[in-house]
Amino acid sequence: MTIGRFGLRRRDYDFPPFRPPSEANSLLLRVTRGCPWNRCTFCSMYKGMKFEIRDLEEILEDIEAARDLYGDRVRTIFIGDSNSLMAKTDMLVKILNTLSSSFPHVERVTSYARAKTIAKKPLEDLIKIRQAGLTRLHVGLETGDRELLKGIEKGATPEEMVEAGRKAKEAGFEYSLYVLLGIGGEEKWEQHARGTAEVLNQIDPHFIRVRTFVPQPNSPLYETMTDGRFQLASPETILKETKLLLEELQVTSQFLSDHISNLLPLHGKLPEDKDRMVRMIGEALEELKENDSLREEMEMRRHLTNL
Ligand code: SF4
Repeated sequence: MTIGRFGLRRRDYDFPPFRPPSEANSLLLRVTRGCPWNRCTFCSMYKGMKFEIRDLEEILEDIEAARDLYGDRVRTIFIGDSNSLMAKTDMLVKILNTLSSSFPHVERVTSYARAKTIAKKPLEDLIKIRQAGLTRLHVGLETGDRELLKGIEKGATPEEMVEAGRKAKEAGFEYSLYVLLGIGGEEKWEQHARGTAEVLNQIDPHFIRVRTFVPQPNSPLYETMTDGRFQLASPETILKETKLLLEELQVTSQFLSDHISNLLPLHGKLPEDKDRMVRMIGEALEELKENDSLREEMEMRRHLTNL
């Protein structure tokens, strides 16, 4: 239930420009604007946008407007933009309490967050935010490999990624981590898969969500690629990387491939569905050897989406 889909066209209602695919039917609420980091080399989402925390009164007015329109129908809510935990704990608690009283049937409230912010936030604050009603955090891991994390300027080490994940889980959040397939390019796929599995194994998040790297024209990594210093991973390489990642995982997470950029619809619970998913990738790799139209279709996926 994006608020726009139901016809609300108030000029002053502020929409988050991005949300996870799993929040397609959620009420969208903007608490911050932009990204306080804005340096990841593969990302162009908030480039040119100054990070700011919205005025609390404005946010409460948006909640009131949404409540008047859909109060009883709202089941899930997504809070944007890229790192809502930058807002002060008291402010977030006030917003979350207002959401609970405005939408009596709400079952899930989620937000994007940066691992570094979670790692820095006191555990007591995370617990307060969780108890006020924020249920799930969507966090970009992208890769667990140290060299690649540094190269893409993610701004967090593997140790900080692990610390953030464990802390968020300790506070009671559902933890959803995004992995960027192909971010090691043609050259570093193996270290990407192994390093990522290593970090994921230490966190055991509730959800592992994979997306395939799609070069963004307005991003530093795009320039690196056009200069010839980064070679885009082929479909075979991405499949080999995904297979190795799955083989190395020792987690109890849901593995989801819920993005249009991905080459295969891999969904399952780990470890139960690991063999099935690994087999599916093996079969696709075999088919790619002889089926040029499959390769074309997989390569086309890079043009279907910008994110
Ligand atoms: S990937 Fe996330 S943290 Fe990195 S610049 Fe983009 S929005 Fe900010």
